[in-house]
Amino acid sequence: MEISLRHVANMLNEAERIVITAHIHPDGDSLGSMLALYASLAAQGKKVWLLLDDEVPAVYRFLPGAELIRRPEGKMEADLLVVLDASDADRVTAVVEAVRAKTLNIDHHISNTKFTDYWYIDSQAAATGEIILDLLHLMKLEITADIAVNLFTAIATDCGFFRYANASSATLRHAADLIDRGARPHVIAEQLETKPLASIMTLRGVLDSLEIHAGGRIATVTVYVDAAENAAETTEGYINYPRNIEGVELAVLFKPVDDNATRVSFRSRRLDVARLALGFGGGGHARAAGCTVASGLAGAKEQILRAAERLLAESGL
Ligand code: 5GP
Ligand code: MN
Ligand code: MN
Repeated sequence: MEISLRHVANMLNEAERIVITAHIHPDGDSLGSMLALYASLAAQGKKVWLLLDDEVPAVYRFLPGAELIRRPEGKMEADLLVVLDASDADRVTAVVEAVRAKTLNIDHHISNTKFTDYWYIDSQAAATGEIILDLLHLMKLEITADIAVNLFTAIATDCGFFRYANASSATLRHAADLIDRGARPHVIAEQLETKPLASIMTLRGVLDSLEIHAGGRIATVTVYVDAAENAAETTEGYINYPRNIEGVELAVLFKPVDDNATRVSFRSRRLDVARLALGFGGGGHARAAGCTVASGLAGAKEQILRAAERLLAESGL
């Protein structure tokens, strides 16, 4: 059932035992939103758990409270399971199965499949972190400096530090509010940009894998998972290189997992890549989306390129 932000606030006020989770392959928005909501609810004396069916990438371990995130173990009961920044059940299955509770989804993905008992989706928000900030204000909860750091990171990472099309004047007002409450953008940017040497070594191989298709409109790169694991477990950022090439409408990053699975990320300037990802059981936003193709690298590449060229033609690009 779709509910208002006021109704979300009431549900959180009424619940005593609350589990917070977010999508697998975590990013700044999912983690920052989880940690901010956790800190505000725990400060009210509620019993709150942070569960995630994945590891926290090294680059996000500076976020205040990151060490409190656990993997689900066995079954448990709670009053409410809050699912943040996740647009479909595939991305949170293990936690949903482990926790017996009413489920509430707070999200900003246009591709959201409405998979919980209750949901609040604002696809105008650049990040789930923006919605959480509005929620904390509505609930009149204190926004500490630690919460501000988490929410600033959530918002800034999902809109490329205010450079992408989803960054609105409201996004910048939210960010300014968080700076007033103790978030320091240059410190956060420094944390996010400092990489281990292995990550830059991996970048060499990623650039070497660059391929151009469809007369220069599609650019692809491939990241091998082993190499990515060495590169501090995150491959975020590599896709910006093909995305930034002149004339490229669609950038694709392939991450081979095994003979039957390839992770795929999409970025675009004008093309609706959420549509492309949905066609392969994934999802995301109009200009940033992803999916997992049930095939090895060669098969995945062929299927994706065929679908992408069709979408380019249909979109007149
Ligand atoms: P990324 O390319 O950074 O992994 O993801 C880009 C966007 O697409 C993010 O908003 C992310 O939540 C979404 N996304 C990526 N992969 C998937 C997927 O497999 N399923 C769904 N539903 N969304 C995805
Ligand atoms: Mn996310
Ligand atoms: Mn998000």
